[in-house]
Amino acid sequence: MDLSDHSLTKILDSLHDGLYFTDKNRRIIYWNAAAERITGYPAKEVIGTNCSLNILNHINCQGTLLCEQQCPLAKTIVDGLHRDGEIYLHHKQGHRVPVSVRVTPLLDDDDNIIGGIELFTDISNREATELRLRELQQLALIDHLTQLANRAYLERELNGRLEEMKRIQVPLALMFIDIDHFKQVNDNHGHNIGDQVLQMVANTLNTNARPFDLYGRWGGEEFMGLVRNINRADLETLTERLRILIAGSFLDDFDHPLSVTVSIGATLAVDGDSVKSLLERADTLLYRSKHNGRNQVSIA
Ligand code: GH3
Ligand code: MG
Ligand code: MG
Repeated sequence: MDLSDHSLTKILDSLHDGLYFTDKNRRIIYWNAAAERITGYPAKEVIGTNCSLNILNHINCQGTLLCEQQCPLAKTIVDGLHRDGEIYLHHKQGHRVPVSVRVTPLLDDDDNIIGGIELFTDISNREATELRLRELQQLALIDHLTQLANRAYLERELNGRLEEMKRIQVPLALMFIDIDHFKQVNDNHGHNIGDQVLQMVANTLNTNARPFDLYGRWGGEEFMGLVRNINRADLETLTERLRILIAGSFLDDFDHPLSVTVSIGATLAVDGDSVKSLLERADTLLYRSKHNGRNQVSIA
């Protein structure tokens, strides 16, 4: 395959899906335009680097880093088999983006394996979210720094969704998500980096939200999630996944990757709840997670 072929790269760059090729040593030799868009990394920063290094840093939903031991691409380069999966890649801005990946071997004319091909689809709700964001911006319901719903919007939605839960029994869960020891991030790295960390956490929440879930900034370094149509078991899975994905997000332009953890308190609304009782219960649960050592979820 001749990658200097202009018409070929034009076609590959017009793909909606991210695509890259590596050689046998997992050195990236081609990176298309969609890969740039989905990951935030321009081709010139990626080509020639080894994909097992920090660039993509794929993790699964348990937070396990796949690059060293369990890289699907590395396995495919050895055995020539196709592989599919859902993983979370590292965006240049730090947050985690859910993608479905398809890995295939790169073959020469005699069918010898000379590398690997990874095709990946952004399965976050990005486009719908961006549309909604523009509408909300005009109504002054968006937090300027994080681009999430602001407190006024959260309060409005909380009232509406609690009414809906009581009237037509749509289950509603509320969660508080508070960054652990955030003051130290500001103290050690400065307020600007603190702001970038807030944006990173916000992006991970937003990128991994389902269409009708709402994540917003309640204040400072505390976020709220309002999730409809969920049962207790799924709430556990969801909050645990968010906790893992936030812990697995990082800013990488430092000596060491800079990441934070969060403590979460989450609860399902019940018929007797008022907004006040619901908020108080979630807050108490958040406090329990803090008290028990942080970086954990408490659910009522
Ligand atoms: P804990 O684990 O108990 O939550 O500790 P913490 O340090 O995260 O909590 P604390 O409430 O002591 O500190 C919160 C810090 O968040 C203090 C405040 O300066 C910082 N902060 C709040 N809003 C912003 C912001 O918009 N940008 C930045 N950079 N920092 C902020
Ligand atoms: Mg905090
Ligand atoms: Mg706080």
